[in-house]
Amino acid sequence: MKTIKFYTLGCKVNQYDTQSLREDFLRRGFKEFANGKAADIYVINTCTVTARADSESLGFVRKARRENPAARIIVTGCLAELDARKIEQVDKNSLIVRNRDKESIIQRLTTNDQRLTTNGISHFKGHTRAFLKIQDGCDNFCSYCKVPLVRGRSRSKPLMEIVSEARDLVKSGFKEIVLTGICLGSYGKDLKPEIGLVNLIEELEKIGQLLRIRLSSIEAADISEALILKLSRSKKLCRHLHIPIQSGDDNVLKDMHRRYTRADYLNLIKKIKRKIPGVAITTDVLVGFPGELQGNFENTMDLVKKIMPLKVHIFPYSRREGTFAAQDRNKEVPVHMIRERLLTLKKLADTCAMDYKKQFLGKKMEVLFEEGCKDSPGWWQGHTDNYILVRFRSGRNLKNRLIKVPVDFR
Ligand code: SF4
Repeated sequence: MKTIKFYTLGCKVNQYDTQSLREDFLRRGFKEFANGKAADIYVINTCTVTARADSESLGFVRKARRENPAARIIVTGCLAELDARKIEQVDKNSLIVRNRDKESIIQRLTTNDQRLTTNGISHFKGHTRAFLKIQDGCDNFCSYCKVPLVRGRSRSKPLMEIVSEARDLVKSGFKEIVLTGICLGSYGKDLKPEIGLVNLIEELEKIGQLLRIRLSSIEAADISEALILKLSRSKKLCRHLHIPIQSGDDNVLKDMHRRYTRADYLNLIKKIKRKIPGVAITTDVLVGFPGELQGNFENTMDLVKKIMPLKVHIFPYSRREGTFAAQDRNKEVPVHMIRERLLTLKKLADTCAMDYKKQFLGKKMEVLFEEGCKDSPGWWQGHTDNYILVRFRSGRNLKNRLIKVPVDFR
């Protein structure tokens, strides 16, 4: 029996892709190894969203070759899409498979049986909440982003395939599914007839034992009136929207080729909060975009303060070859300034998070418990629908239990 090991970097879509490959290999009798054991085959699903992701991806290639010099190493994912040369420099014997050919990996390693196709997923290893990929690719070409270059144009999975995967996940015991994609909001626009995210959500709501549906990152420009209405009425759709800001300054947003102004964004958030009481907003901010002056950064700080997000993922600008912004080298912000801005924004983000959460302190809310607290035996942690991480003490096993408890996050 051949043994296999998976290493995955990056976004929920990449994690979904690995789970889909995992299930394919396990269905064909491969045994998955974890920890330090050397395996016959390694699949490294790489990410290239930042320079750091590149080096971490290559680090796993080295680690696999060290662990088993005779191993069959497959390197796939976004780094493999455009930077095969970098991978070959690290390990010339690796099999490099581009994102779009991921589904053919098992064929290349097993048989020449043409019928082999991926069947989607029915489980999600190591997770209590399952990520379900519904869309891939992006047509937006934000000037700093390499993703459209490595994931291709936007394309949606047929609705009934998603519903069937969701049913399989629920059969495996998952109570919450996180719908994920590279550009989630463009779901269904390429399907004939065209459909939207709300159509999909309405089909998924019919699955009895599926208790929660969560949306992963969605662009501001893709949030429709229909989606806001669905969020305000649905019993299953979580009151949580992750809407990237990237910058709070109109000049920087323009240079980033983002499809909204700071006023558009602010008005959208005000409308969402008005129509969906208790909704949580989480977001991404990119600090140090080429040409970002102190005044531009202060506009970002001001917008974040006004939105009061539960969480801010803060990214330092990372030049990505092949992107429009990479041409602006002479306008790049010095690293020490980026670091300073990161720390300043982090402090503000922590204050906003506490300001948002404290309105729920002590209130009884439904929490889907995910795991025991490693630092406190007897305590369990999980998320409310509006994504507050709650800790609760219990002598019972609360894993994957959805129960009402007083909110405590201290
Ligand atoms: S929307 Fe912009 S940032 Fe997001 S994946 Fe597409 S190009 Fe990249």
